[in-house]
Amino acid sequence: MIPIFLMKYVILENYEDLAVDQKGVMLESQCQQIIEQISETSYVHGEPSSMIDTEIAQLAAIYGGRIIIVNSNFRIILDTFGIDEDKVIISEEVLQSFLGSDSVNYNREYQFLEMTIPIPNRETNETEGVVIISVPTVDVDSGKASLSNTVLILQIVMSVLICLLAFYVARMLTKPFGKITKSLEEVQGGVIEQEISIPDYTETQLLAEAYNRMLKRMKIQEDSRQEFVSNVSHELKTPITSMKVLADSLLAQEEVPVELYKEFMSDIAEEIDRENKIISDLLSLVKMDKKSSDINIQETNINQLIELILKRLRPIAARHNIELVLESFKPILAEVDETKLTLALSNLVENGIKYNQEDGWVHVSLNVDSKYFYVKVEDSGIGIPEEAQEHIFERFYRVDKSHSREIGGTGLGLAITRSAVLMHHGAIKVYSKEGEGTTFTVRIPLKYVP
Ligand code: ADP
Repeated sequence: MIPIFLMKYVILENYEDLAVDQKGVMLESQCQQIIEQISETSYVHGEPSSMIDTEIAQLAAIYGGRIIIVNSNFRIILDTFGIDEDKVIISEEVLQSFLGSDSVNYNREYQFLEMTIPIPNRETNETEGVVIISVPTVDVDSGKASLSNTVLILQIVMSVLICLLAFYVARMLTKPFGKITKSLEEVQGGVIEQEISIPDYTETQLLAEAYNRMLKRMKIQEDSRQEFVSNVSHELKTPITSMKVLADSLLAQEEVPVELYKEFMSDIAEEIDRENKIISDLLSLVKMDKKSSDINIQETNINQLIELILKRLRPIAARHNIELVLESFKPILAEVDETKLTLALSNLVENGIKYNQEDGWVHVSLNVDSKYFYVKVEDSGIGIPEEAQEHIFERFYRVDKSHSREIGGTGLGLAITRSAVLMHHGAIKVYSKEGEGTTFTVRIPLKYVP
C-alpha cells in the first residue's frame, strides 16, 4: 500500500510539470508571432504600431497575464499593466536574453510562469529588445486538484482491493499450518499413527513429507522401545521363574536328601549368576546408548589392549581346547575409550570361543592404515545362518535360544559391541558360513572426532 500512497505525489508532480510545460510551449509560439511582427518594424526604437499594441494586449488578456517589452537600453517601452513604462529593468533573465537565449521560470509557490524571449533585429539578427511575459498558472492548480480527487478515489479502491486480497491470500497460505498444529497436538496426546497430507502447495507438501518421515521414525523408535521393555521383562523373569520352580519343589518335599538340596541350590546359584549377567549387560548397553559426552577418549596402545583381552579369555578357550592366536603386524596407537572398546572386542572373541567346536581356533588379527585400524576376529565355529546375519546385532537376538542360554549368552553382547563401535564412529561387519565359521571385522578411526 505504500507505493499506492506515493503514487499520488508522483502523478500530481508529473501532471503539474507537464501542464506548465505545455502552457509554456503554447505561450512561446504565440509570442513568437508577435516578436516576428515587432522585428519587422522599428517598434522597439519607438515607432508606434497600434496593431502590435492590440495583439500584445489581446495575448495578455487571453492568459490573464502581463507582457512587458524592453528596448536595448533596458527601458520598458510597453507594460500591459501600464505600471512600469519608461522604467529601466536589469535582471539576470533580461541580460541573458540580450545575449540571445530564452529563459523560462516557473514559480511553484506563487503559481506563475515567467518567460523572457529576445527580439532579434530582422537584418543584423542582433537582439534589439526583450519580451517578458508572466502568466498565472492557477488553472494548472485547479486541474491538479481535480486530478488529486480522482487519484484519491483510485487509491481507496485499490487499498480496499489489496486488503481483501491480502486477507484472502493470508488465510489461504496459513490454512495448512492449522492442519500441522492439529496433527502435532495429536502426537503430543500419544497418537503417532496418523500421517498428514497437505498438498496445498509445494512448501507445505515438503513440510508434510518431512513431518511424516519424522513420525515414521518416532513410530519405529516407540515400537523398538516397547519391544525392548517386553524383552527385558521376559529375560529377567526367566531365571526368577526357574529359581521359583526349584525352590518350590524343594519346599514341597518333606525330607529332602542333602545331595538334592545341594544340586537344587547350585542350580539356583547359576540362575542368580545369569540374572546378574543380564543386568550387568543391560547396564553396559544403556551406558553405550548414552550421548557421546560419556565417552572417555585416551590415546591407547591397541596391541596391548587386545593382548590383555586374549590373556583373560585364554583359560575359557583352554577349557574347550580352543586355540587363541593373535596376529599383529605393527604397533598401533589410537584415540579410543579403553573400557568400551575392551568390552566390544571381548564380546567378539568370547563369541568366537562360545560358538566354536571342540579343538577349534579363534584368530584375532590387527591391522592399520593412515586413518583407521582394523580388528578381525575369525573362528572355526558353527557359523551363522545367512538369514540370521542381519539380526545378530539386535538386542536379545539369538540364533539358537536354548544353545545360547546353555552357554550363558544374553543376546546383548553384539548389541553392546555395535554400540561401542558406532560411538567411536567406526564400522562392524560380519561374514559367516554355517558349519564353517564366522569372521567379524571392526574398523575404528585412529583419531577420535567428537
Ligand atoms: P549371546 O549373548 O547370545 O552370545 P550376542 O549378541 O553376542 O548374544 O550374539 C547374538 C547371537 O549371534 C548369538 O546368540 C549367536 O547365535 C550368534 N553369534 C554371535 N557370534 C557368533 C559366532 N562367532 N559364531 C556363531 N554364532 C554367533
